[in-house]
Amino acid sequence: MESVKVGKATLSLIQGDITKQATDAIVNAANSSLMGGGGVDGAIHRVGGPAILEECKKIVAQIGRLPTGQAVITTGGNLPAKYVIHTVGPIWRGGESKEPELLRNCYLNSLKLAKEKGIKTISFPSISTGAYGYPVEKASQVAVKAVIDFLKENQEIKEVTFVLFDSFSFNAYSNALRKAKKNL
Ligand code: ADP
Repeated sequence: MESVKVGKATLSLIQGDITKQATDAIVNAANSSLMGGGGVDGAIHRVGGPAILEECKKIVAQIGRLPTGQAVITTGGNLPAKYVIHTVGPIWRGGESKEPELLRNCYLNSLKLAKEKGIKTISFPSISTGAYGYPVEKASQVAVKAVIDFLKENQEIKEVTFVLFDSFSFNAYSNALRKAKKNL
């Protein structure tokens, strides 16, 4: 575990399973259909149970497919977290297709939604770096910078945790955090 203070908030990195996190909200790296899938999405629906998918279906009935970079919120169902924020990361297409901006939007829109809901503690997985193929070294820098930028401007959220599934991802985020600290 590594932590840094950003204003009054704490930004931490841990290696582990996000479905075990007892923060107010966890973020899901969903796909536009919101119908579940593999990776962290599959794990969240498996552990959280059918209530999450029910709400996702209602959202899609209302707004259609969720555009890349946007975020919506549902119950946490049987998860320790009260809420799940679903966001759609960009598919890596080589880096010239607005991937960094879209990935940044995932983090900013998730945090904005959390703030609106009065959420104080939130956990993120490494969005887009699994099936969507975003190189983790690049994605981690975008992710860490987006969260720090948000926390500098907004004091409502007290705790942001990146939950990295494997040591390779953890090390990438750790390096990104070390770089970002220099500008804090
Ligand atoms: P994407 O489609 O956005 O790339 P993935 O779920 O395929 O999403 O992968 C995103 C990251 O989430 C990967 O680093 C993957 O190892 C990780 N991951 C998978 N399961 C979990 C879990 N239970 N908790 C945290 N991270 C997870």
